[in-house]
Amino acid sequence: MNAQEIRAAYLKFFEERGHKTIPRALLVPQNDPTTLFTGSGMQPLLPYLLGEEHPDGVRLVDSQTCLRAQDIEEVGDNRHTTFFEMLGNWSLGDYFKSDQLPWFWDFLTSSIRLDPNRLYVTCFIGDEANNIPKDTESAEIWTKLFKDQGIDAKQVEIGSEEDGYKKGMDGGRIFFYDASKNWWCRAGKIADMPAGEPGGPDSEVFFEFDFVPHNPEYGELCHPNCDCGRFIEIGNSVFMEYVKRETGFEKLPKQNVDFGGGLERISQAAINSPDMFKISVMWPIVEKLETISGKKYDSHTESMRVIADHLRAATFLAVDGIVPSNKEQGYVMRRLLRRAIRFAFDLGVEQNFLEQVVPVIADLYENDYPEVKANRQKVIDVLIKEEKAFRQTLRKGLKEFEKLFISADSNATTVIPTVAEESRKPAVSATGSLDKLEMTTSKQGEALFTLYDTYGFPVELSVEEAFKRDIKLDADWQAQFDTKMAEQRARSQTAAKGTFKGGLGGQTMQHKKYHTATHLMYQSLRTILGDHVVQHGSNITEERLRFDFSHPEKVTPEQLKQVEDMVNEQIDKDLKVSFAEYPTKVAREEKGALGQFGDRYGDVVKVYTMIADGADKPFSFEICGGPHVDHTGQLAEPDPGSDKPKRFKIVKEESSSAGIRRIKAVLR
Ligand code: ATP
Ligand code: MG
Repeated sequence: MNAQEIRAAYLKFFEERGHKTIPRALLVPQNDPTTLFTGSGMQPLLPYLLGEEHPDGVRLVDSQTCLRAQDIEEVGDNRHTTFFEMLGNWSLGDYFKSDQLPWFWDFLTSSIRLDPNRLYVTCFIGDEANNIPKDTESAEIWTKLFKDQGIDAKQVEIGSEEDGYKKGMDGGRIFFYDASKNWWCRAGKIADMPAGEPGGPDSEVFFEFDFVPHNPEYGELCHPNCDCGRFIEIGNSVFMEYVKRETGFEKLPKQNVDFGGGLERISQAAINSPDMFKISVMWPIVEKLETISGKKYDSHTESMRVIADHLRAATFLAVDGIVPSNKEQGYVMRRLLRRAIRFAFDLGVEQNFLEQVVPVIADLYENDYPEVKANRQKVIDVLIKEEKAFRQTLRKGLKEFEKLFISADSNATTVIPTVAEESRKPAVSATGSLDKLEMTTSKQGEALFTLYDTYGFPVELSVEEAFKRDIKLDADWQAQFDTKMAEQRARSQTAAKGTFKGGLGGQTMQHKKYHTATHLMYQSLRTILGDHVVQHGSNITEERLRFDFSHPEKVTPEQLKQVEDMVNEQIDKDLKVSFAEYPTKVAREEKGALGQFGDRYGDVVKVYTMIADGADKPFSFEICGGPHVDHTGQLAEPDPGSDKPKRFKIVKEESSSAGIRRIKAVLR
């Protein structure tokens, strides 16, 4: 069965079991300003899982288009794309485990005929501290389902993911993991759940590519949750079974099922392909890229994967009415498109090509999604308009690149045009011919910044161009570039806020809280990730904080959790917040106060201290103009009319530019 058939079979399977098919929600959430995109099937249904009545009844099924911009750097592995469809079915206080698990099992083994020998499942191991029992009920159901297929399903207790790499498979079929893998709640962690909050165990199904050997780089022994690629998670049944009370956990009177399974992953299992891009809603895009470029997928795998994924995502964003722009969803869309166009350079495709690819994508979806058909021409127009604009930018940028770096044979001094007055000086001059090009300045990184800032020429392309032309860039070009970037950010923030340097926040209480939270998070990031973490920018609104910092790779979900926990711990400890003024040298060198990258300070600076009662060392000690709250406990203050204390929550982690990560976080 191909992906289109699997989607249809899934909807039909659950319709036959009393479910109503509901249309997908748009990629842009309609009533949730805290997230840019719909990232799961349950997200639009959350109000109904929390008790609101759904007009279509208590049994629902759908295929939800999802966008996870945070998975952008995972595109290229065998199982992550930024855009995907999540098959979902829900019981709103109706059926529970004893229907859900056999149904999903039936769907996998009978409808789409997966070999049961290649399926493995996980269940919740229980949580002693909170008196939540092991989910033996799900395990018993699984045992019977395997047994009916002649499989003796051994149960193995693993615990944490790390333990998995030590214990390995151990001949098991049903694996028990702890709350970090098999517990669902909105707060993320059991301990962070406020009273009144629902949560429950989940049970995941994994498919095994038995011909893919374990890769020990991921850990000594393989287990279902290992990331080496032998196992992929194809679906997850969440059982909303409990509610937290002041006195502990109680069973909910009405229990929900929330199931989500990746259509693309189930489809790759169905064709036994460890490569997701071989499925029927992806491969025609790759084939088109092969035709356009004359290159083969086998030798240009990563580039073709990135292009196929990003164009699929951009197409659906356009279907949902988004246009490329410089903010929010439009910005992500622009980034996806520009990244696809850049990766096409690797295929030798430097001319317009979206006009040929986008119709292929539309063809794949228009039979199942009428809105794709209805908007077909509009979508193509939006995407090729952006492509043309970007190529124009690239052409201009390339010309400037040549002016800056290769004024060959002229001995002429090239002046970099820039917004910053200080850069209005001869920055780069080249002497001699191309092959013995010599830069007379060491400010190449600054020149690259100008190209980026003034002409929108991506720095990655500059680097490639330099490589192609045998221009050796200074070892510290990146640092120069980053400094310029940080200065520019500080300038634009100052301008935007109409405040003085250091005055990142406004004066409202909400601003102050986010400002204080930013300090707590900065220190937590350094404690958890290391001292290479340096602030590169910060922006605060009434709704959230945003923070850019140096870190070479994606911050893992585990690390993000640790950061959240550490910040919440400091909020709970109610640290006292105060400031003092120090000579800059003393603050920085003797006292080691944190600062922002690229910031130049006057002779005297204000330093904010956040310290627990009775502690001998402050948790945070940072140069800053303020203003802040007086003590960190204020960050937990509930909204008027509510008694639910607020928690610090990271809602997004993504790349901001080369080597710089961006986090958005909220108090809620
Ligand atoms: P993983 O750990 O593999 O990233 P996840 O825990 O993020 O998965 P869920 O949030 O539980 O996944 O989403 C439910 C299902 O959606 C998964 O079982 C998987 O099949 C699918 N899925 C999740 N992320 C992606 C992605 N980036 N690309 C394709 N499918 C995905
Ligand atoms: Mg994930």
